[in-house]
Amino acid sequence: MTATTHTVTNQAPPLVGHDVFGSDRVLAEAVERHLAPELLDEARGDLGVLGQAAGSGQMAKWGERANANPPRLLTHDRYGHRIDEVEFDPAWHRLLGKSVGAGLTDAWGRPGGHVRRAAGFMVVSQVEAGHGCPLSMTHAAVPALRTEPEVAEVWEPAATSHVYEWGLRPVAEKAGVLLGMGMTEKQGGSDVRTNTTEARPLAADGEYVLTGHKWFCSAPMSDAFLVLAQAPAGLTCFLVPRVLPDGSRNAFALQRLKDKLGNRSNASAEVEFDGTTWARRVGEEGRGLRSIMGMVAATRLDCVLGSAALMRQAAAQAVHHCAYRSAFGGLLIDKPLMRNVLADLALESEAATTLGLRLAAAYDADTPQERALLRIAVPAAKYWVTKRCTPMVAEALECLGGNGYVEESGMPRLLRESPLNSVWEGSGNVQALDVVRVLRTEPAALDAFLREVGEARGADHRLDRAIRGVLVELADMDGIEARARRLTERLALVLQGALLVRWAPPEVADAFCAARLGGDGGAAFGTLPHTLDLRAVVERARVEI
Ligand SMILES: Cc1cc2nc3c(=O)[nH]c(=O)nc-3n(C[C@H](O)[C@H](O)[C@H](O)COP(=O)(O)OP(=O)(O)OC[C@H]3O[C@@H](n4cnc5c(N)ncnc54)[C@H](O)[C@@H]3O)c2cc1C
Repeated sequence: MTATTHTVTNQAPPLVGHDVFGSDRVLAEAVERHLAPELLDEARGDLGVLGQAAGSGQMAKWGERANANPPRLLTHDRYGHRIDEVEFDPAWHRLLGKSVGAGLTDAWGRPGGHVRRAAGFMVVSQVEAGHGCPLSMTHAAVPALRTEPEVAEVWEPAATSHVYEWGLRPVAEKAGVLLGMGMTEKQGGSDVRTNTTEARPLAADGEYVLTGHKWFCSAPMSDAFLVLAQAPAGLTCFLVPRVLPDGSRNAFALQRLKDKLGNRSNASAEVEFDGTTWARRVGEEGRGLRSIMGMVAATRLDCVLGSAALMRQAAAQAVHHCAYRSAFGGLLIDKPLMRNVLADLALESEAATTLGLRLAAAYDADTPQERALLRIAVPAAKYWVTKRCTPMVAEALECLGGNGYVEESGMPRLLRESPLNSVWEGSGNVQALDVVRVLRTEPAALDAFLREVGEARGADHRLDRAIRGVLVELADMDGIEARARRLTERLALVLQGALLVRWAPPEVADAFCAARLGGDGGAAFGTLPHTLDLRAVVERARVEI
């Protein structure tokens, strides 16, 4: 329909009506690479169905609604009884229904389960990142639950179920549950040893009551939380259900919901445990960190995948816009300088996706060597990929010009979401220091890392030089704490470069090695050497609709 005074021209059509999975060549190739051939047909089929749903426009609408109508805290009912509930827009439940139904909390022990789930998680996170939080925590809780077989027997089948069932009821009455975590307190988040929440043992073995608080507790309508508290023998992990087996509510007072920069569809609460809050021990007393670390490692990988998803969506939107928008007599995508920007964005996105899926495959392989690789590569990837996300998404937003700054483009929501993966689950410095700790205490991890990057040795002189550079850095541990970011960044870049050299098209690997490893690129995006085949890099990232 024309406007009264003019015809609307030169605006890109919305990027809908496509398969978010199948149209992402990098993701589809990664799934093909990492899954056994006998699993591939079914996985491609399932991911294609999810991808079509994600690209249909319907899920995007749910995402918009869930963010426009953020969750509301209901502390009391109309008669004054405490209820401590959070009300969500129906769109939030539809999003969770779709994603839980697609098996995105069910990876452990399924052949190729982690790769399939990682790809699905990347698909849905591109449409709405907020609901990724409960999906991630529920999936990641499984290794922690398994440290206490009696607890796992009850909770694991419900957590890995493909049924999303809303509402606070005992686990025995639910076909599916969501799980969250409570570690961070007011006086300390990174340093959980400072947790002051106290756990007093009850007469029954493994049962306790908690007194204290948690300063951040996301997805507070989840069915249970893995919580750290100080027991007589020290910091211990507990499962705290919202509802007790007899159907009564556990004491779990929601004090406030956080007013957050982004992630607005999701609720993050402050919680108070009043001395009667019932908790079941998970793992040994005093070994809480060990119990919960399996969960933390898995959520850290999801931060990588979540950031990779934001970057993929941002790059796809930028390329799409420029493929339709003309300025100064030609399509933006054909302008040499814009092509350079788009290629650089595509490069960052591809490097993040390739690394994230490689690490998911390591979870599936579950060999000692792959576990050692994860030990160093997950914190390094969490550090680097999540840190690249915000500037990358901001640059992609700029490709849409003024439209990108306007809410209905979806780009502002992507940008607001972008810093979060770098903050939670251990902020940047904490990841870098974890890398240093691993280097000091787990020699098998560095061996596994060097074996992995060694697979690409000899294929690109810039990569070879960068690997040698890492070894030089590592030869001297003097001042290592202050050098931790620098070292972690190099480890991540070398790993990304090695994976791209092995698996990406030559033009992508060439551009990455030149700009990210060879020093032939600037601080801003769009500074790749102009002699490279940038058109091919951009075309690879383009979605045909
Ligand atoms: C939206 C949102 C939801 C969240 N949901 C949850 C949840 O569900 N459950 C939960 O338990 N937590 C949750 N968190 C908390 C989050 O994990 C913490 O905020 C985060 O781990 C950092 O802890 P902190 O805020 O206490 O910061 P601090 O620990 O005080 O850290 C502040 C800064 O200091 C740096 N730093 C810390 N130690 C060192 C050091 N030794 N050397 C150098 N630098 C250092 C950190 O990297 C950080 O940049 C959530 C946070 C957000 C923003």
